[in-house]
Amino acid sequence: MTNNGTAPKTLGKTRPHQTQNEALVFEKSSPGKRAYKMPPLDVPIVDPAVVLGEAHRSESAQLPELSEIEIIRHFTRLSTWNYAIDLGMYPLGSCTMKYNPRVNEAVARIEGLAEAHPYRPDALAQGILEVIELLQRCLIEITGMDAITLQPAAGAHGEFTGILLVRAWHESQGNARRKILIPDSAHGTNPATAAICGYQVENLKSNAEGGIDLEALARQVDEETAALMLTNPSTIGVFESQIHKIADILHAKGALLYMDGANMNALVGKARPGDFGVDVMHLNLHKTFSTPHGGGGPGSGPVACKAFLEPFLPTPVLVRTARTEGPGTTGLAGQVPETTGQLHWNYDRPQTVGRVRAFYGNTGMFIRALAYILANGPDGLRQTTEDAVLNANYIRAKLEDLYELPYKTASMHEVVFSDKRQAAKGVRTGDIAKRLIDYGFHPYTVSFPMIVHGALMIEPTESESLEELDLFVDAMRSIAKEVDETPELVKTAPHSTRVGRLDEVQAARKPILRWRPSQ
Ligand SMILES: *Cc1c(COP(=O)(O)O)cnc(C)c1O
Repeated sequence: MTNNGTAPKTLGKTRPHQTQNEALVFEKSSPGKRAYKMPPLDVPIVDPAVVLGEAHRSESAQLPELSEIEIIRHFTRLSTWNYAIDLGMYPLGSCTMKYNPRVNEAVARIEGLAEAHPYRPDALAQGILEVIELLQRCLIEITGMDAITLQPAAGAHGEFTGILLVRAWHESQGNARRKILIPDSAHGTNPATAAICGYQVENLKSNAEGGIDLEALARQVDEETAALMLTNPSTIGVFESQIHKIADILHAKGALLYMDGANMNALVGKARPGDFGVDVMHLNLHKTFSTPHGGGGPGSGPVACKAFLEPFLPTPVLVRTARTEGPGTTGLAGQVPETTGQLHWNYDRPQTVGRVRAFYGNTGMFIRALAYILANGPDGLRQTTEDAVLNANYIRAKLEDLYELPYKTASMHEVVFSDKRQAAKGVRTGDIAKRLIDYGFHPYTVSFPMIVHGALMIEPTESESLEELDLFVDAMRSIAKEVDETPELVKTAPHSTRVGRLDEVQAARKPILRWRPSQ
């Protein structure tokens, strides 16, 4: 359905984002246009058919032909259709869509770091290796763990790596074990990870507060349990206050505690998983540590573990050669062995689970995450945690009279409502989310976590000011009023975008992935 531009009445300072109609770059093409001018060739022209042989195409590729300004305008206009954190609040719960500070970008573009070649010999790559090593130390300190790998390229990839460590350790004890326990509030990637690592998934029911039922856990853990995968704070934004007891129950049966650390934004500087019994966990640098998400990525999902899992970490592992004292270091620079105190990659790791990623991981993200950590410092990081929790609780307090709050337990960095009251008028969480687009906001996370029927999962992060939070609250309150007075308006939203409601089933089942010229 194409919208005819009936924008909502503007509310306070909120405005719908810009819409334009833009033809495809192929449709804008006209023969002979070029976006470049090259000097004439001053080398002999070789017939491409001779060089390429059979691979030489007989017809042109029919690439679009446009001038430079046409190309720039085309893509600039398209970019205005995207919603982005640089345009406004992006309250996508569980995703921690925080601002990507510009200083990170400046640091990541420092020539010696940006252009370091992965095959450069270690002795000539000490700068970038120091950056990587310092980030490792910071993350180990923040998590309270003993060792870390930065290789995994995303959160789910970190889970995979972490559970491989769990499996390798159990195997080294003589039995890989059979199953992994996962609470019903878990992120979908957790059961997928367990299954792909060859484990059976056993569901663990949450208690009335949305936490783990300790008695049920004690009954379910046995000698075939490899681990429990637990998100803390959970996906309903609640801190698992019994976590140390959960760890004890698992450890008593030889099982391990895996923590999905995607929600570390609520813990950094406040509590360390290593101190409350976690054996292995992943972090999402593209959530907690402000590196770009999605199209602006790539992601990075480091895995931190306790010392007993360290021998199994993916290769290579960064090690620092001990400074050698004595003969050869008597003060003459030329006599100091080249590798003294230097960092190098160690590939000789007999118990390793193997590589999980080409080279060393997404190095550009390491630089950005380290810039964020160092720019904030310990007090600043603690403050970001406090502000993230404060912002989520502000939204909760401002909306709980209009939206149902299924779990009353104190919220951490995100708040989860349900659409129970609005559903009585036939309006569901997905409708409210689409209407939010008309008010200029990216939707919150819809219908997740599964344990909340019709969930509205809202995570503002610490990036948002009081002013922006108030605009969001106004929009949500206004939508609640619309649900009462003109529910159809909400059910047919969005009205201000280039296209309105898409047939999502049709789009998933019969996607049209290729443009064809009209004959
Ligand atoms: C985001 C998230 C993941 C997965 O991270 P990706 O980088 O998207 O793979 C896993 N668990 C939780 C709780 C998350 O929020």
